[in-house]
Amino acid sequence: MVEVKVKILGADSFGSRSMATSLEVGGVKILIDPGVSYAPRRYGLPPHPVEIARLNEIKERILGEISDADIVIITHYHYDHYLYKPEDVEYYRGKVLLIKDPSSNINVSQRIRAHRLLKTNKVSEIAKSINILDSSTYIVDKDFVVVGSPPVPHGAEGSKLGYVVMVLISCCGEKIVHASDVQGPMSRKALDVILSWKPSLVIISGPPTYFAGIKVEEDKVNQGLSNLRKLVESVDTVIVDHHFARDLNYPSYLEELRSINKRVMSAAEYMGYPIELLEARRKELWKKEKAANSDRASGESFLEVD
Ligand SMILES: [Zn+2]
Repeated sequence: MVEVKVKILGADSFGSRSMATSLEVGGVKILIDPGVSYAPRRYGLPPHPVEIARLNEIKERILGEISDADIVIITHYHYDHYLYKPEDVEYYRGKVLLIKDPSSNINVSQRIRAHRLLKTNKVSEIAKSINILDSSTYIVDKDFVVVGSPPVPHGAEGSKLGYVVMVLISCCGEKIVHASDVQGPMSRKALDVILSWKPSLVIISGPPTYFAGIKVEEDKVNQGLSNLRKLVESVDTVIVDHHFARDLNYPSYLEELRSINKRVMSAAEYMGYPIELLEARRKELWKKEKAANSDRASGESFLEVD
């Protein structure tokens, strides 16, 4: 029996914004969303050096994995989901690319980024092929397909952030879904698509509880939580991370969901890593740094007296 090997390369529960995932089936390697980034500002603070170091570690891991990938999937054009820097685009050379449609159901900023990637940085010339993922099926082999959902909102219906495409990898009796940035899902349509696929494993971005009542209406976040509960009721294993893991209360939300289904977890737990919510802990990290610096300073003056 052929086995699907799932490796999560980057996740917010590892300490940096990412949902980069590698799937290997019988010698074919698929990389989904090869990107990582940090919040430029959180609590009004820039990223702590520990966060920058973690981002670099995750990026190295992504670059290591993409080298021998056959298929690369880009679910949408946000910087935590694809390699976009001119010095990195060479990694797309020779790959089969399955990408979010760059010209329809896309907002202006993502349209510009997609154009920059494909045309300005010439990825459409160096890739083996470019295939639109939206509402389509890519046949890898007999009984091995990659299915793209119709475009679903990046969060709630009508979100200004545009659309993402969710992905179903179906092979050898296994069905794995990668649902980036659906934030719960908040959209009922997104939930219905996932449930209609009848997956055994779902890797999904949870609701942005850290923004509830601040940047995202509380109702919408609650809608995301309620749809997530429906999802975990009917799927064997759910890895819920990304937006959800930017909240210090993330571990207690996971606990609550585990009362519905024991197999709900963070990407870190799935990979056997400790949960490290570096972005959510940014204030504390800077505070500790400041305290250590002032200890060092007072230590020096003590030595001078001595
Ligand atoms: Zn994202």
